[in-house]
Amino acid sequence: MTQSWQIRGLSNEHAHLDKGMLVPGSAVYTDAPAPVRGGWTREHKAGFTKQGIYERAEAALQQMLSYGTTYVRTHVDVDPLVGLKGVEALLELQANYADRVVIDLTAFNQEGFERYAETEELLAEALRMGRMGIGGHTLTDSDGQAHIRRIYDLAERLDAPWIEFHTDESGKPEHFLLPYLAREAASRGLGSRVYAIHCNSLANVPDEAAEDAIGLMVSAGLQVIVCPTAIATRAITRTKDLLAAGVRLTLGSDNMSDLFNPLGSGNMLQYAQLLAYVQRFYEPGEQQALLDMLLAEPVDAEAALKLSQLDAEVLYSTGDVRELLTHAPRPAAMRRGAASTSN
Ligand SMILES: [Zn+2]
Repeated sequence: MTQSWQIRGLSNEHAHLDKGMLVPGSAVYTDAPAPVRGGWTREHKAGFTKQGIYERAEAALQQMLSYGTTYVRTHVDVDPLVGLKGVEALLELQANYADRVVIDLTAFNQEGFERYAETEELLAEALRMGRMGIGGHTLTDSDGQAHIRRIYDLAERLDAPWIEFHTDESGKPEHFLLPYLAREAASRGLGSRVYAIHCNSLANVPDEAAEDAIGLMVSAGLQVIVCPTAIATRAITRTKDLLAAGVRLTLGSDNMSDLFNPLGSGNMLQYAQLLAYVQRFYEPGEQQALLDMLLAEPVDAEAALKLSQLDAEVLYSTGDVRELLTHAPRPAAMRRGAASTSN
């Protein structure tokens, strides 16, 4: 057994801090199809206050921090329901925790342009409030290709440092927009800034179509973020094929204690463990590959620089990869800037 493991912290490349910790508290989880729960979330969102968002996001963040995470990229909903309250709250959180964790924000169009046309101007306003990325969702509008183009157009106009898409989240083959997303990124020269989150339909299309799509992603330079808790409702993407093709892969906690996921620890090792079980990352090299996803340097140079300046140390009592994935332990000790804690 390797005795201990000292790292700069773990990375969580996809979260929704603004919607975190709704359950239990202001919401009771009731199981229903995703669109129904989306409707309930919109009702809650319309009542969000900046203070309320801040407090819930902080509680979710503190849980992530307690498990050794030092980089979090979180989406933040921007639409006429919540306006820019989420962005304001999370910009404050980002500043207040800057000595402990690097938080990047992605202004997110969760509800679609068709439902709320005003979202376009709100997204532009959000990106003027601070350095942040822009996020779309390939299934939120009936015309997914038009949605993708509109997000890319905005990203180009506003010079967004990164662009993220919840991609083919239903897992259904008929919702397979990943090839279009990759081709459009390549033709605009944006690929290195584009993250495709989920890519569930890739799991369910024929092998040949999947191979073609992965080829397009590689030539476009797209990154993929896998959120293992998505297994609750659909198949996880072809993680091993993407790894073998050389696609940069990272993991995200996704929703935490809300109407999309009433659980969620914020413990990145636990999410890696879940993926290990679901897709049999059992061989030593495969286990190491999972761990590497939690340690990947941010692609964005500014985020990488901030992380290197964080001067963080997270110490685990074992450096044995199998043990880390088996037990998903809390760090034995952490030092971030001036703050120091130990368990
Ligand atoms: Zn998400």
